Amino acid sequence: MRRLFLTESLADEIAITGPDAHHLMHVLRARAGQHFLVVDAEGHMAEAEITAFSEKQVRMRRVADIEANTDSPVELVLAQCLPKADKMDFIVQKAVELGAVSVQPLRSANCVVKYDEAKAAARVGKWQKIADEAAKQCGRTRLLTVEPVRNLKVWLQGALAEERKAGTALLLCYENEQQQAIKAYLRRSGAVRFIMIIGPEGGFTPQEAAFAASCGAVSVALGPRILRAETAALAALSVVQYEKGDLGGRCFSKDEAEE
Ligand code: SAH
Repeated sequence: MRRLFLTESLADEIAITGPDAHHLMHVLRARAGQHFLVVDAEGHMAEAEITAFSEKQVRMRRVADIEANTDSPVELVLAQCLPKADKMDFIVQKAVELGAVSVQPLRSANCVVKYDEAKAAARVGKWQKIADEAAKQCGRTRLLTVEPVRNLKVWLQGALAEERKAGTALLLCYENEQQQAIKAYLRRSGAVRFIMIIGPEGGFTPQEAAFAASCGAVSVALGPRILRAETAALAALSVVQYEKGDLGGRCFSKDEAEE
């Protein structure tokens, strides 16, 4: 069954408007009586039936609630320094599949792409569309948010406050890290929110790594080989989701996840 994400809370009578209504009417050529899965912003899901159409609105009726939380018990954030060309499209799509809650695009010293404000905003809009599509495809109950592009250092200063919140781990995946392997770190950690910072193709400068440490980030190695930026992002999300979340299992409870 196709899935529709609602901006308002799930109710018995549902009115779909805007691009979703257009898509239903003119692309999918939906008819009265057809059933869809509708998911609201809090992740509540129901089966709904189309009851009526007007010029700009599709009306639906809730038929049955569905218990199906496909979202992870850990909150995973990908803070990704901008990679070249269209690689971010791929990274955002995969971050959705791997259960991240948000992607924070960052500008850092070695980023090759330089977007002005307008271009950056346009890119974020494009990535959000990719994320929304991916959420439908992979059956998520919550959408991933793509945040506005920020400067790494400015963002790190804000992240400091975030990291101090109980249960949050701020991890800088650093290609030059020799001491701290991510596996050992994760096995010790009791965090339920993980913010994973990944560098661009050119990596982090030693100054950036030092600054991140001064902001409370823990530098970790993903393994003995240097991974490309997009591989590093996927590997980082995968290992956290495997160790602490629901990758490699079905719907793990929080207790099982913390074992
Ligand atoms: N140009 C750099 C590599 C950058 S790889 C060099 O040759 O040294 C791009 C990003 O992927 C890095 O900044 C880091 O965030 C991540 N990364 C790649 N391999 C890693 C590893 N083995 N451990 C931790 N992070 C890694």
